[in-house]
Amino acid sequence: MNRETLINHVAKTTRDMWDRGWAEANGGNVSLRLNDEQNAAFAGLQGQSEWIQLSVEAPSLQGERFIFTGTGRYLRNVEIAPERNIGLIELNNNGTAYRILWGFEPNGRPTSELAAHLLSHATIKDSTNNYAHAVIHTHTPSIIALTYAFADLSTAKLTALLWRMHAECVVVFPKGVEFLPWMMAGSDDLGQATAAALRQRTLVVWEQHGIVGTGRNLDEAFGRIYVAEKAAEIYLACAAAGGVKKTLTDAQLQAIAGNFRCNWEPSLLAGWPGV
Ligand SMILES: [Zn+2]
Repeated sequence: MNRETLINHVAKTTRDMWDRGWAEANGGNVSLRLNDEQNAAFAGLQGQSEWIQLSVEAPSLQGERFIFTGTGRYLRNVEIAPERNIGLIELNNNGTAYRILWGFEPNGRPTSELAAHLLSHATIKDSTNNYAHAVIHTHTPSIIALTYAFADLSTAKLTALLWRMHAECVVVFPKGVEFLPWMMAGSDDLGQATAAALRQRTLVVWEQHGIVGTGRNLDEAFGRIYVAEKAAEIYLACAAAGGVKKTLTDAQLQAIAGNFRCNWEPSLLAGWPGV
């Protein structure tokens, strides 16, 4: 993989987010922790900024490099000017500061959700044994609508609802979706809560705001978000068409999970019995 291929893949992901209505204005942000091959594609770069102190510490990410989308930048513009709208950063030797190696031209910075992304990367690097490298945060309208439509949403209720409304869900996110009550965007509290949730889950919903998805690469993180959003769309379409008349049963979901050998959490099914 060369540098251009990687940048094009990031641009394809952000363009897809825009096309689906998930990234209005400067909404949404993406980060990718580079693997060895991707790091080789960006070899030989010099620091383009001073070391900038982080608001959180991520010692397990020492020396790691990441592609990030820029703060205030529009994801729909990454494909026409990647050097302005995304950038490459490197963490220092104890994970307390970063510097820019490429991009964010002329005087940009990574996303304001930098803390949430880095804490999430620290968790998933550890919890997936270095498998997961991608974190996407975006504003999926149907998932967000569910957080307004129910007064009593919980991790179990949201997970069971999505699992029961789309047969792929239990396969794509067998550990469920964490539901976090509203917290201030960009805050370290939200970052800490998200990272803690990612120890068990691959998706975290932020009440009245959006979703965070993780995966081995951008395709996997994007795909998990898309499947959850699709299930929410199906639920809302049924509700608009007179109400949900039937849902996937416990037995059907047991069969699907068994067929695909999912390491899932069937106890979450009790969160929403369906109809
Ligand atoms: Zn957001």
